[in-house]
Amino acid sequence: MAKININRDKCKGCLICISFCPKGIIVLDENLNRKGIKPVKVKENEECLGCAMCAVMCPDCCIEVYK
Ligand code: SF4
Ligand code: SF4
Repeated sequence: MAKININRDKCKGCLICISFCPKGIIVLDENLNRKGIKPVKVKENEECLGCAMCAVMCPDCCIEVYK
């Protein structure tokens, strides 16, 4: 199963990745990151397609996809 790694301290919470994930598995993390911003996280136990749309669309290159 594919998985993604989100650099939560680099994330600026723009939510672009959420709107592009076809599976809807990226959500807002209520816990603040080091910038004092709510970053995004992946829902537990949800299947990632490995499509990399989130990684491609992130303007700050915060997401890596592993297949
Ligand atoms: S790789 Fe695709 S399915 Fe997986 S989290 Fe990113 S956009 Fe969603
Ligand atoms: S697109 Fe990048 S910076 Fe924006 S919320 Fe997603 S991971 Fe964070």
